[in-house]
Amino acid sequence: MRCKITVIGTGYVGLVTGTCFAEIGHEVICVDKDARKIGMLESGRVPIYEPGLEDMVERNMKAGRLSFSLDLAESCRDRDAIYIAVGTPSDPETGRADLSQVHGAAEEIGRALSQFSVIITKSTVPVGTNRMVAELARAVAASPDFVAVASNPEFMREGAAISDFMEPDRVVIGVEDPRASTIMQRIYAPLVEAEVPMLVTGIETAEMIKYAANSFLATKLSFINEVSDLCEAVGANIEEVARGIGLDKRIGLPFLKVGPGWGGSCFPKDTLAFQMTAQDAGVPARIIGAAIAANDARKASMADRVLAACGGSLEGKKVAVLGVTFKGQTDDMRESPSLSILPRLIAMGASVDAYDPAQPRDAQALLGDVRLVADPLDAVADADVLVVVTEWKVFRSYDLATLASRMRTKTLVDLRNLFSPAEAEQAGFASYSALGLSTK
Ligand code: NAD
Repeated sequence: MRCKITVIGTGYVGLVTGTCFAEIGHEVICVDKDARKIGMLESGRVPIYEPGLEDMVERNMKAGRLSFSLDLAESCRDRDAIYIAVGTPSDPETGRADLSQVHGAAEEIGRALSQFSVIITKSTVPVGTNRMVAELARAVAASPDFVAVASNPEFMREGAAISDFMEPDRVVIGVEDPRASTIMQRIYAPLVEAEVPMLVTGIETAEMIKYAANSFLATKLSFINEVSDLCEAVGANIEEVARGIGLDKRIGLPFLKVGPGWGGSCFPKDTLAFQMTAQDAGVPARIIGAAIAANDARKASMADRVLAACGGSLEGKKVAVLGVTFKGQTDDMRESPSLSILPRLIAMGASVDAYDPAQPRDAQALLGDVRLVADPLDAVADADVLVVVTEWKVFRSYDLATLASRMRTKTLVDLRNLFSPAEAEQAGFASYSALGLSTK
């Protein structure tokens, strides 16, 4: 049965969630306080890069199931469900999740309610937050009976967000109130009919599942990166080692891809928040602490690999960079390894020209003296080294020989193992360095 849903926050999660709910038949209003985003969306343009999203937004707007608004209060009247999908960044001083956007939204929603609605938190929030959302909303609502809450954490990956939403491995719902439970069942009925497993838990459990999942995945990456360094030291091949262990079903292949260190809008802040939850509970969290420390050290060490590949000096050299976003197929720059690597290269005396297919709008402000170019051929012109920082799929289609032919010195440092040593050699690179491989 169709539900009337409002989604607060039209970032990556809110916009994909709202649009996908409309796609499965619900009537959705997406709200943001950012007038630029709402203006773009109302005219059918999508403010983020997410494959397939623009078409889906357009289709559902035309069908009358999806609309956008700046007016939170008006958009919360007479709704079955109101999703909170606002940001929960790290507090830079404490490492805790900054919940000011969530708390602010909870109060605004509470004030706007004129009947019962379930308030559902989609944002990643520490244990205890959903109960706080209920308290804050009830304190200002016309009647405390108008408010019930549910936790419905999101597991989508940027770049594959639509398929992750439509065909998730599971949907997790933390709920106690029977009225809220009924609405949650109605919202997800179309996915459950398509045989998506739905896990209904207590509220604290749902909150914990999200942090434990992200902390586990980040730890898996830190682990394989450490194994990669060991492979390099002892003459083993990380690609084969990763496949060799990943084919074991108890381990699994995903998240065994070696790289320059994990970043993005979730893992760094969620691992820190998880650590703080453990600290507050008086429970040691040694494993996640080690995964964070190993990752910080890894990001910091990547510039040294470029330095070594260039014979120990970058003074006056030109570095060409492919990719600045935190991973391929997204325009998200948050906590990207490029933010740690590129300024270090400049501090070592290099000039850096970088190309990213998404051309993220905030990249120049974040990367300071890096020159962002609109064409990869401009980046490599007269360069002394080419560094692959992000694993954009499109880079695989580039003619490496053409890139190499434009360079002054034919050195390739591949921090994603996107190209094989044989491909690099065939393209004319005299020196190729990758992660966890014995290369020349
Ligand atoms: P984002 O920062 O891209 O978007 C948040 C949006 O909320 C912004 O547009 C902001 O203007 C808006 N907003 C904040 N307060 C508001 C208010 N009171 N009224 C209206 N709009 C308001 O964030 P995101 O990347 O979409 O992440 C949202 C949450 O989802 C975070 O908790 C994040 O950890 C979690 N999450 C993110 C991902 C991901 O891949 N990005 C995946 C899973 C979970």
